[in-house]
Amino acid sequence: SHCNRILSTGMIFNQADQEVRDTGYHRHAFNVLISTRLGYHRELPDTRDSQCRDKVYPQALPSASVVICFFNEAFSALLRTVHSVLDRTPPYLLHEVILVDDHSELDELKDDLDRYVQEELQGRVKLVRNQRREGLIRGRMIGAAHATGEVLVFLDSHCEVNQAWLQPLLAPIQKDSRTVVCPVIDIISADTLAYSPSPIVRGGFNWGLHFKWDPVPTSELNGPGGGTGPIRSPTMAGGLFAMNRKYFNELGQYDAGMDIWGGENLEISFRIWMCGGQLLIIPCARVGHIFRKRRPYGSPGGQDTMAHNSLRLAHVWMDEYKEQYLSLRPELRERSYGDISERVALRERLQCHSFRWYLDTVYPEMQTVANGNKQQPPLFNNKGLRRPKVLQRGRVPELAAHIL
Ligand code: UDP
Ligand code: MN
Repeated sequence: SHCNRILSTGMIFNQADQEVRDTGYHRHAFNVLISTRLGYHRELPDTRDSQCRDKVYPQALPSASVVICFFNEAFSALLRTVHSVLDRTPPYLLHEVILVDDHSELDELKDDLDRYVQEELQGRVKLVRNQRREGLIRGRMIGAAHATGEVLVFLDSHCEVNQAWLQPLLAPIQKDSRTVVCPVIDIISADTLAYSPSPIVRGGFNWGLHFKWDPVPTSELNGPGGGTGPIRSPTMAGGLFAMNRKYFNELGQYDAGMDIWGGENLEISFRIWMCGGQLLIIPCARVGHIFRKRRPYGSPGGQDTMAHNSLRLAHVWMDEYKEQYLSLRPELRERSYGDISERVALRERLQCHSFRWYLDTVYPEMQTVANGNKQQPPLFNNKGLRRPKVLQRGRVPELAAHIL
């Protein structure tokens, strides 16, 4: 069974195994010994609700360009990501797979990868190499610029897509090109590589501008699809989503002034909602992701890119609510965050709603600290009647600890 195989693949037989395991944890923060032994193809438990299996999708759907950006990824995890897409996507829907190497340092990602792409993947996968480290934000923009499919699908480089994952993502985009969709992100254990289902949750954030998972309000679960219908989500986790390519460009791609990692998921989420689109989580689309306990790389200069990126998004999108962030991070008030004039102009051009509108309309569960004073016990000023009833607020087990 799935579990027994996992147990036996983790055994250490000799010094070489030990070394693969140790260097793997050091470089990648997950069990590379098991990852290597699993190979590039494996069966996965079908984690969808049984209702999903009965759903029918239009035969004619837009075709997808899958963009996978990576920096120093483990060869086996990267190739399993790629093969899971090739194995589980109907060819007529898969326009191309684009790998963007963000100037990785690891030897295994050089000639060996060139050879593998050329000899084993024969024209089905395009490999783009960045001449310098760009970070995942500009990296994805580079991938998108190479893409020619109608829909862009972004994945992290340590994912495995599950049964019939793509059709449920493409159908809502076909219906409305300003709908952006995320699959449910199933959990691949960093220690055992076991694949397990995630609960249905949706994306939120706190005033420290950290992404968090929230329970789904009952109002969202009462639609025609019941528990398997699309769920409106205030934010996305970031790594895994699909979006019409023209719409991605019209909406301003990403903020190219953001570096390496962090904040771009909230920025694009706010932008989608505030500028006329919508963001949905699709419970019938399942993609596994290796959740690691730490991120195994830094930024080239050691900067806190999350803070830099968050400052940019706060100043462009959050209006007076940026005070909520700055009062939690007073040391950032004087920090420079570069030129944001192009993004401010984008917001003007797209005639986007205010952040207040976003909070009231899309994320009424969000609570603001009335006067931004941390010393006082928090005063909540948003207990108004507009707020829909939500499920018991509380920890969502397992997932709550992770930021994708
Ligand atoms: N990534 C990249 N360049 C960077 C940092 C990250 O290409 O400078 C890639 C990384 O390899 C991964 C994706 O961006 O495929 C998301 O990063 P990561 O998985 O580390 O984020 P997490 O899932 O931990 O939030
Ligand atoms: Mn990741």
